[in-house]
Amino acid sequence: MSGAVSLFAEPTRMTMQEAIDLTVQSLRAYGEQHQHWGIAYSGGKDSSATLTLVLHLIETGQVPQPESLTVYYADTRQELPPLALAAQAMLSRLTEHSNWVRSAVVTAPLDKRFLVYILGRGVPPPNNNTLRWCTRQIKVDPMTAAIAEHLKGLPGNLLMITGVRQGESAVRDRRIEMSCGKDGAECGQGWYQQVLPESPGIRGRIATLAPLLHWRVCHVWDWLRFHAPAGEYGGWPTALVADAYGGEEAEEINARTGCTGCPLASRDTALDNILRRPEWTYLAPLKGLKPLYQELRLPQNRLKKTGLDGDGNIARGKNKQRMGPLTFEARLMALDRVLAIQAEINKAAKTLGRPEVDLVSAEEEARIRDLITLGTWPNGWEGDEPRADKLMDHILPDGTVMPNLLAEMDIQDA
Ligand code: SF4
Repeated sequence: MSGAVSLFAEPTRMTMQEAIDLTVQSLRAYGEQHQHWGIAYSGGKDSSATLTLVLHLIETGQVPQPESLTVYYADTRQELPPLALAAQAMLSRLTEHSNWVRSAVVTAPLDKRFLVYILGRGVPPPNNNTLRWCTRQIKVDPMTAAIAEHLKGLPGNLLMITGVRQGESAVRDRRIEMSCGKDGAECGQGWYQQVLPESPGIRGRIATLAPLLHWRVCHVWDWLRFHAPAGEYGGWPTALVADAYGGEEAEEINARTGCTGCPLASRDTALDNILRRPEWTYLAPLKGLKPLYQELRLPQNRLKKTGLDGDGNIARGKNKQRMGPLTFEARLMALDRVLAIQAEINKAAKTLGRPEVDLVSAEEEARIRDLITLGTWPNGWEGDEPRADKLMDHILPDGTVMPNLLAEMDIQDA
């Protein structure tokens, strides 16, 4: 039976060199049509691999150098501290190519930043089911604004290179998803690929290219851990990024890349990987962020619609008694907890002579307190709604009222 094809045989996996060769082909095919290139870089594993590989391929003449390359660093203020430090080191390295490479740090406006939006405006932390506002707000929208601004002074079009990665199957089915959970991919990259070209101020002026689309997570890890740090590939500070996302078990762990304590990830895998390294164990209080975000979503920390309109009639809409924003008490409680985490880490950092963290800056803290003092609520909320743990009649989507039996029992008992 030798030579028979088995239905159950594993397809041959692409080698690292084959993966790089395909990347070179895509950059040569599309890159040469654009004088100016940009790279959406977050400090995570996929965009770090993309940035260092593209620069290596240009420096070694495997891919022609564009007239200019702008590296847009998406600083969400939520990155894992060691990765934020590594990103700063990467950006410093870019100055070696200042005649054709420039970098731009892209951060959301103060009121739209993750913690200011949650604790100042009162919008609950995002979750997987109903409220995923974060990626667009802290990553995609600021990136769109920065690129639109850059395009104003740029002749011609821009080729925007993203680190979106879908594995080998993506090459076969030519599909790019918005998901940032597939194959442990980096949060935001799929959005850049799909949302940026259609954004106002940009539409028609950029093309996007994902030259690592076919890479598997083990290719990314090998590149960051062994290739990129080696002198012949540029000597980039990427080893820590590789370790944060799984070390030698990268393929099995497949850690999602994103914010510290991301409420949408099931576990803090990247943070756990970092905390295993003795020099970073003092960051352990960061483990308190994820449970805090989960706690904030509980009814006792939020307001809820009564299901009645201003005239006491049944309100319109399906979810008439939806839970909404965070109470002021919950916001202040959470701010205290984040500040305490920051203080604990920085006290240890001082003692150990290690880098401090900046979870909430003085400017952000002052703005959060201002917004609370000003009585700020998200659109559609007045702040006079009851707390969401208050017992009340249940109003179904069709307007049927189901009396609150517990409240009636209370009355009978009284
Ligand atoms: S990593 Fe998590 S919290 Fe951060 S933008 Fe992505 S989904 Fe939102």
